[in-house]
Amino acid sequence: MTLYLTPAHDQAIRDHGSQSYPDECCGLLLGKALPGEDKQLMEVWPVANVWAEAENDLADGESARRRYLIPPQAILEGEQHARAQGLEIVGYYHSHPDHPARPSGFDQDFAWPWYSYLIVSVVKGASQELTSWVLDDEREFRAEPLRELPSG
Ligand SMILES: [Zn+2]
Repeated sequence: MTLYLTPAHDQAIRDHGSQSYPDECCGLLLGKALPGEDKQLMEVWPVANVWAEAENDLADGESARRRYLIPPQAILEGEQHARAQGLEIVGYYHSHPDHPARPSGFDQDFAWPWYSYLIVSVVKGASQELTSWVLDDEREFRAEPLRELPSG
């Protein structure tokens, strides 16, 4: 299991994380499944973090500085956009403001199998480490290697 992406994808996720700081940013990863368990990222699809909005059923007292929520409507829109190009949703990304790029228990509890979960650490507004995670058969996150391809 490897997630292939270009330097432009990497930069787009970092930029979104910096722009959203000190809140978490979030978005969809559109791409295609490759043979084996590899995936190729083709497009970064930013989504507004609606964690702080009133109808959030998951609200647990944490602010959008520690949580993100992608509404179902945004997932549908991203999926339609992906399908129109022969792509699919291969994962999700979000930022960890002033925290390491390691998944929280909350991240793990709400993750779905197969998808890649990319996390970028943003410290004082500047992006740091970028990591990716996939659930294993025990529903524990395992680090997924990221490999950069040339842009274009
Ligand atoms: Zn997280």
